[in-house]
Amino acid sequence: MKVGFIGLGQMGRAMAGNLVKAGHEVTVWNRSPGRDEALVAAGAKRAATPAEAAQGDVVMTMLADDKAVEGVVFGENGIADAPALHVGHSTISPALADRLTQAHGGAYVSAPVFGRPPAAEAAKLFVAAAGPEEHLQRCAPLFEAIGQRVFPLGDKPSAANVVKISGNFMIMAAVESLAEAMALAEKSGVERAQLLEVLTGTIFGAPVYANYGAMLVEDRFKPAGFAAPLGLKDMTLVADAAAKARVPMPVLGVVRDHLLDAIANEGEDVDWAGVALAVRRGAGIR
Ligand code: NAP
Repeated sequence: MKVGFIGLGQMGRAMAGNLVKAGHEVTVWNRSPGRDEALVAAGAKRAATPAEAAQGDVVMTMLADDKAVEGVVFGENGIADAPALHVGHSTISPALADRLTQAHGGAYVSAPVFGRPPAAEAAKLFVAAAGPEEHLQRCAPLFEAIGQRVFPLGDKPSAANVVKISGNFMIMAAVESLAEAMALAEKSGVERAQLLEVLTGTIFGAPVYANYGAMLVEDRFKPAGFAAPLGLKDMTLVADAAAKARVPMPVLGVVRDHLLDAIANEGEDVDWAGVALAVRRGAGIR
């Protein structure tokens, strides 16, 4: 298939690479130059503008936030009127997904992903996909090239964005609770690693506890696999959606403040798991 790929950050580079490996004709575009070199060496074409990358069958976007997606779609040389079906993988607001659906005359699929850069490299992402059935079917071979499983969520694209931001809220809540339990254990003379071994070996066997727990035990907060400012962006998307839907989410306030604490104290380049450092500071550890 002729696929455009826009946004070659930590996630996009890996996803586009897997599309090339799967034999698709991939044309890439990124705002800053230089990030496409390995992809071009592997056989991808370089586009001069976003619109040029969107002349094939499908164009995928994997950009930082709402503002970046708006620029690439509605800005100069944007993809709003390009012929390719737009598949949005970025974590953006459900409201922007609704606007994109309208602007593309229905030719839009939201397909945000679960999984960090190593999962993207290994083509092991989970894809939450929503949009008209015919478009989802068209995308199936592309999703297969980047992920291990697709979760179809109906024909309204923004439903996938609601699922994605809800999931990210739960990741942050899990990391927060794990960090609080670890601080309690540590100050009581129990090693973090021991606590994690018991929890993940009994009733907390989910990947989120195992993977983030290992980061917390080993103090792996830099370089960031998922930078805290992007996590903060996601928690703000949750807050906006919750306010609109009139859903109180008190835990959200706690994790959002701890993300701000982590960014303020550790820098913009800390991983979002750095909320654990805010928790530790609060407990007088370090
Ligand atoms: P990243 O490494 O920071 O890459 C961000 C990408 O967006 C880069 O290509 C960047 O271009 C581009 N961009 C930023 N602002 C732009 C603008 N105004 N105009 C055009 N392009 C712009 O981020 P990432 O980790 O790949 O994440 C990408 C998306 O996936 C985000 O929505 C994130 O929330 C989501 N996500 C991330 C993870 C993860 O673990 N990392 C997992 C699931 C979902 P430049 O190269 O020019 O800066």
